[in-house]
Amino acid sequence: MLFRSPKKHNKYDRIVENGSDILALLLLRFGDLTLKGKNQKQFIQKVKELLLEKTAMFPLEYTFQHDRIYLTVPDSISVESVFKQLSYVTGLHSYSVVHKCEKDLNLIANQAIPFLQEVIQTKQTPFKVESKRADKSFPLTSQEISKALSKLILREIPLLKVDMHDPVVTLEVEIRQEAAYFYVSKETGTGGFPVGIGGKGLVLLSGGIDSPVAAYLAMKKGLAIDCIHFESTPLTAIESVQKVVDITQVLARYAPNSTIRLHVVPFEEVHSMILNHIPEAYIVTIMRRMMVRIASAMAQKHHLQALINGESLGQVASQTIESLETIYQVSQSLVLRPLITYDKNEILALARKLETYPISVRPFEDCCTIYIPKSPSIRPVGWLAQRYEEKIPYQEAIERAIQATQVLVIHANQPLDLASRGLTVKEALQ
Ligand code: ATP
Ligand code: MG
Repeated sequence: MLFRSPKKHNKYDRIVENGSDILALLLLRFGDLTLKGKNQKQFIQKVKELLLEKTAMFPLEYTFQHDRIYLTVPDSISVESVFKQLSYVTGLHSYSVVHKCEKDLNLIANQAIPFLQEVIQTKQTPFKVESKRADKSFPLTSQEISKALSKLILREIPLLKVDMHDPVVTLEVEIRQEAAYFYVSKETGTGGFPVGIGGKGLVLLSGGIDSPVAAYLAMKKGLAIDCIHFESTPLTAIESVQKVVDITQVLARYAPNSTIRLHVVPFEEVHSMILNHIPEAYIVTIMRRMMVRIASAMAQKHHLQALINGESLGQVASQTIESLETIYQVSQSLVLRPLITYDKNEILALARKLETYPISVRPFEDCCTIYIPKSPSIRPVGWLAQRYEEKIPYQEAIERAIQATQVLVIHANQPLDLASRGLTVKEALQ
């Protein structure tokens, strides 16, 4: 049975030296547990599922408690490789390596000092010790333990300043029957909610920097995602679609079953129609309106509850408040914009952390960047956009695009190479 009850299984049992098999103990904390009752139960269940899936390649032992999980890691596995996988578990707040020690305050202090030093480096740092005494036969109370340890540690690390209310570093100590345990630093997890708990959305995924970050943020707020990409091969290079496939693969690390469905819409016909018949100032607006019409229809068809995109207010002409209003008039779906208030540098930092950035900056243009006029309207109006659209038979073209959409199932560990298989997506998928 994987989900052991903590009553039947002492969480520290396995951190003993077991022959040559020395086990590291990790403590995992949940993310946003402000949820109540049934929702909280569901939250924890989902985090467990994700955790088991993302760490399935390791022979770990799991001990589940109310608001935390203990993981025992055999010596043969590097803790860093486990940490990497934990970083893909949405809903996990933080995790730490727990150290085992004899029940002697001098020894605990001595063993903790190098870890504290590593964390603070040369910076003066607010600090506190937080103790728990599970072994009631231990002669000091938990407060006394904290005080005594603080004293011993401050003597060796004068850069630490006790701050009971707002510590930057906390040494957590637990005295138990069989031994003492402590941990110092925490790795920060994604936080948020486990993906899938909040319903399902459709991410408009370009090969750019922003939309992959928006997709990640949606997942870490609990939304499962499908992605949709509008491709205009052969007007654009197939490498621009390859970028999107590769980005989806990176995003799939966070997804349930490490899998994301990517709907690839052949957009070339609509795209060409717009380039040939729409006045320059409205090309971008109308192109985006067509995408939104298709994405919205697709969302309804597949029961996806919202459209999600990478728009950030004021970033480009199509992202002024007037543009957004005009573009989304044609949407039948709720639209979520995780990045709407983000600055570019904040988005870049997240894209780098996510590892989508190097893919996004590969130099291939997609339909939103190729042949785009120098001076798009920054204050387009709906009635005029509609007037222009009436000149082109877009309904039929949209219908054809929807019919010809291909669904690719992208798995985190399985690369899909389109670019070497043809010049258009159609060719490559035949
Ligand atoms: P990104 O970096 O995500 O491409 P951007 O700042 O370049 O964003 P735009 O090109 O105006 O902005 O696109 C705005 C949003 O529209 C994107 O974030 C994305 O959600 C969606 N989008 C743009 N082009 C496409 C496309 N070809 N397929 C799917 N969605 C797209
Ligand atoms: Mg773009």
